[in-house]
Amino acid sequence: MRKGIGSESARLFSQAKKLIPGGVNSPARAFRAVGGQPFFVAKARGSTLTDVDGNEYLDYVCTWGPAILGHAPRPVLRALRAVEPNGTSFGTCSALEVRMAQMISSLVPSVEKIRMVNSGTEATMSCIRLARGFTGRDLIVKFEGCYHGHVDSLLVRAGSGPLTHGQPDSAGIPKALAALTKTLPFNDFEAVRELFKREKRSIAAVILEPVPANAGLYLPQPGFLEELRHLCNRYGAILIFDEVMTGFRLAPGGAQEIFGIRADLAAFGKVIGGGLPVGAFGGRADIMDLLSPDGPVYQAGTLSGNPLALAAGLAQLEELQRIDGWKRLERKGRHLEQIFLEAIGKKPVCFHRIGSMFCLYFTRGPVRNLDDAKKSNTKHFAKFFRTCLQQGVYFPPSQFETAFFSLAHSHSDFEKTATVLTEAL
Ligand SMILES: *Cc1c(COP(=O)(O)O)cnc(C)c1O
Repeated sequence: MRKGIGSESARLFSQAKKLIPGGVNSPARAFRAVGGQPFFVAKARGSTLTDVDGNEYLDYVCTWGPAILGHAPRPVLRALRAVEPNGTSFGTCSALEVRMAQMISSLVPSVEKIRMVNSGTEATMSCIRLARGFTGRDLIVKFEGCYHGHVDSLLVRAGSGPLTHGQPDSAGIPKALAALTKTLPFNDFEAVRELFKREKRSIAAVILEPVPANAGLYLPQPGFLEELRHLCNRYGAILIFDEVMTGFRLAPGGAQEIFGIRADLAAFGKVIGGGLPVGAFGGRADIMDLLSPDGPVYQAGTLSGNPLALAAGLAQLEELQRIDGWKRLERKGRHLEQIFLEAIGKKPVCFHRIGSMFCLYFTRGPVRNLDDAKKSNTKHFAKFFRTCLQQGVYFPPSQFETAFFSLAHSHSDFEKTATVLTEAL
C-alpha cells in the first residue's frame, strides 16, 4: 500500500494556496469532492503520471480528454520540435491554419467553414453569439448537467464543476442574462416540444453535449437527437453540438458521425490541441460567413491558430488516422468493459461506456439525465476514488466527471485496474 500524498506535493500545495485561489488554476484539480490533496505532476508518459515525490499513477483522466494517444506521444513531440525553431507565434497567417481547416472539414462533414480559438469555452461562446447574430433572436436552450465551459450564458445548471462545488449556478452572472437561457432535462422529448411550442421563433439555438459527459456519462435516448434536429429545422433555430469532449475522440467525425446527425454549428477542443490550448468552432458556411471581417458578428484572438498548438493538434489527428486509432480504442474499450463489469459483479454500480470514455455511478441506475446521476452515492465514490489513488490508479476526482483511456493504455493496465477495482468496491 502507498502512503498517500507525498511531502513535496503537500509543500507545493500549501505554497500554491497562498497565491492561487484554492491552490489550483481549475477547480476540479483541488480534490474537494473526494477529500485529500492533489498531487503535483513532474512528468507524464504513456498511460502514467509521475508526481514530484516519485509516485506513479495509472491515469484515467488523460488531461480531461486531450491525451488520446497517451501522454507525450512521439508524433506530437516531434511536430513541436519541428516547428519551434521557426518561432512560437506570428500574429498573422501561417500554412498550418490552412492545413488544420482542411483536416477538420475533411473529418467532420457538417463543417463547411471553421475558425480556430484557444479553448472549448471560447468555441461555445462564439457559437452562441453567432447563432444569435444569424437568427436575430436571444433565447438559448441548454440541458441540465451539460457543461459548455464557463461562458456566462451557459453556466446555468452546468454539470461537473458547479455540481461538485455545490453551486448549481455561478455567482456573478447577471439575472437578465441567465433569463435568456432556458434549461431542460436531457432526454426529455416532451419538455423540448413544449418549450418550442411556447417560445416558437424566439429560440436562437439549442446547444448540447450530444453525449453528456460532464455529469458522469450518459447517452442520448434513441431518437432524442433526431427530435432536436427536427424541432430546430421546424422553428428556424440553430442546432449546436458541443463536441469539445466527443469530437475526434468517439470517431473522426465525433458524435455527429456516430449518431448520423448534422449539426448547424459545432464546438471543438481537447483532442484537436494535442495537449496544447486549442479550440475551434465551425459548421454551415452561410452561418460562419457572418463572422467578422465578412459579417457583423465580432470574434477574434491574439493567439488563435498558434503554430505550436496547431502543429501538435495536426500531428495527433494524423497519427490517429494513420493507425486507425478510433477502431483500436473501441476494441480496447470492449476489453476494459468486460473486465470492469466482472470486477463490479453484482454491486450496486452502474457502468457506462462509449468508445474511450466511461463512468461508474454508485447507484443501480438507470442514469439518463442529471437527476438520475445525482442519485449516485458520492460518499461511496469518494472512498472508491481514494482507495484507487492509494493503489496508484487515478480516476477523475469527482463522481460528475468522465474517465478516459488512451491508446497508450495496455491490456495489463486494464487488468491491474480491475484488481484495484475489486478491492475498492
Ligand atoms: C471541457 C469542455 C468545455 C470547455 O473547454 P475548455 O477548454 O475547458 O474551456 C466545453 N464543453 C465541453 C463538453 C467540455 O467537455
